[in-house]
Amino acid sequence: MQTPAEQIAPPIVMVLAGHDPSGGAGIQADIETLTSLGCHPCTVITALTAQDSVSVKDFQPVPATFLIEQARAVLEDMPVAAFKIGMTASVEIVEAIHTLLQDYRQVPVILDPVLAGGGGGSLAKAHLTEALMDLLVPHTTVITPNSVEARLLCGDADSLEACAQQLMAQGAEYVLITGGHESTADIINRLWGNRQMVSEYSQTRLPGEFHGTGCTLASAIAGYLAHGAAVPTAIRDAQAYTARAVAHARRLGMGQLIPNRLAWCTQSGSRH
Ligand code: PLP
Repeated sequence: MQTPAEQIAPPIVMVLAGHDPSGGAGIQADIETLTSLGCHPCTVITALTAQDSVSVKDFQPVPATFLIEQARAVLEDMPVAAFKIGMTASVEIVEAIHTLLQDYRQVPVILDPVLAGGGGGSLAKAHLTEALMDLLVPHTTVITPNSVEARLLCGDADSLEACAQQLMAQGAEYVLITGGHESTADIINRLWGNRQMVSEYSQTRLPGEFHGTGCTLASAIAGYLAHGAAVPTAIRDAQAYTARAVAHARRLGMGQLIPNRLAWCTQSGSRH
């Protein structure tokens, strides 16, 4: 007979991302999302940030060798079902993650190419976009840039369609470009795969600005994939999960609202 510990084996997702002390984005958003989707997150810190719900003040990448040490300790111990990569901060960290991914080519990679905080303030050292394009995009199963990040990554693309094509040509299997920063009445997210647009998702734009929505979405995709969902299904369900967290977001500071990623398990999804 199995022991209780053997019976309950949640899929393990390795998150490589930055720490946000406001608890709105970064590693904490990833932990809340993945835990609430029934996964076990293993969290490898890429950088510390100093920020609040308003803006980023500063950030410090961890030494690249120490990032590898954190990740290898876990990778040699536990079977990882998906990687979720968020803030990478520096070229050295991107190079370190690239080295790790070479050894785990069969594990899906969800890349949220974080370059700035939601409220403003850079989270990227020099030449990060080039390093992401050259070293991480080719290993990516799903890349989830918002429209601003997509344009920054694909400097010479003249449309979001062209950005998506460039990211796929670079090796990303699926490209989900989110439209929260566009001036459309509703938020339109678009998914490309196999060199063509495969789905368009429209959501009502809620009033306010939100901190950590990109992290929530990318982690939810990783969580559903780790449970064995097909990519388009994982992306559809992750958007629904994120929309619910945003609909129940709370004002905890003076800036952006913080999504309630546990809304689904509080009474009637309300403001507890
Ligand atoms: N990761 C970290 C550590 C951050 O601090 C932020 C934003 O401040 C992000 C990721 C991206 O946040 P969002 O999900 O709002 O794009």
